[in-house]
Amino acid sequence: MSVLVVGSMAFDSIETPHGRVDRVLGGSAAYFALAASVFAPVRIVGVVGEDFPDEHLTALSRSGVDLEGLQRNAGKTFFWHGRYHEDLNVRDTLEVQLNVLLDFVPRLPAGYEDTEYVFLGNMHPAAQLEVLSQLEQPRLVACDTMDHWIHETPGELRKVLERVETVVINDSEARMLSGHDNVVRAARVILKMGPRTVLIKRGEYGVFQFSDSSSFVVPAYPLEEVLDPTGAGDSFAGAFMGCLAADGVAGDDGLRRAIVHGNVTASFTVEDFGPRRLMALDRGEVDERYRRFVELTRFHG
Ligand code: AMP
Repeated sequence: MSVLVVGSMAFDSIETPHGRVDRVLGGSAAYFALAASVFAPVRIVGVVGEDFPDEHLTALSRSGVDLEGLQRNAGKTFFWHGRYHEDLNVRDTLEVQLNVLLDFVPRLPAGYEDTEYVFLGNMHPAAQLEVLSQLEQPRLVACDTMDHWIHETPGELRKVLERVETVVINDSEARMLSGHDNVVRAARVILKMGPRTVLIKRGEYGVFQFSDSSSFVVPAYPLEEVLDPTGAGDSFAGAFMGCLAADGVAGDDGLRRAIVHGNVTASFTVEDFGPRRLMALDRGEVDERYRRFVELTRFHG
């Protein structure tokens, strides 16, 4: 079963205490697609500019990503420049150039409308609604968002939340969206806005899953060295959705397996700058780390 992601394609310049890279492949759709493609076929709907190099497209295609829905528009590709603090959970955005993303209207190619697993990456909620209107009967739609849309377009964002099954956001966004500092309370309030499941990403502290009937808590995979956390959240979402698409949604156990696969896959992303580690990742490595994670968290209560 294929997974469809609609989101940003970018050039990223990234600075962390461990080094920097300039204008590497980035964007929520790129990280999501590379991670999801470890588990299932992936379709991207997004936009790049005339300056986007073919080598990035080749790298994505080699990973099994279908690029038919990628528009190449006149102008420059979206650009993001971020700098991380010593505490890698904190980053500053130094520059954003929306460029071709500013006028992006997502259009699903013929044959994409019946995709069953769909991820609406961080973008204008009006664009997320536009995608929803083009889908036939998706089995599972998840969405992300960010502080900007929570503040600037709350009405449209609410409409998206009423229509998605799952929301995947980080803890500061969950606080902002709900108006509650406590993450458990925040999740309860967000559940009332429509989604059946809320996944809250907490950086090095892992992931919380909340729904009305069950909750699940997963620590991040412990690493000795994290070089660059960029894209960890999108990689988590990609592997999570890819895993669900590959295995079929199968109750709480299937959901938990997908969450742990997302968590483990994201742990590879942060081991190198940009999407470099993710591009070289294979299923065997994920499976091995998954088994290790099960060992690390197992106990007899
Ligand atoms: P993450 O680290 O998972 O939050 O995702 C980082 C990615 O989000 C980077 O590759 C950026 O290019 C992308 N990004 C940053 N700001 C925006 C934005 N305003 N809209 C869309 N994508 C963005």
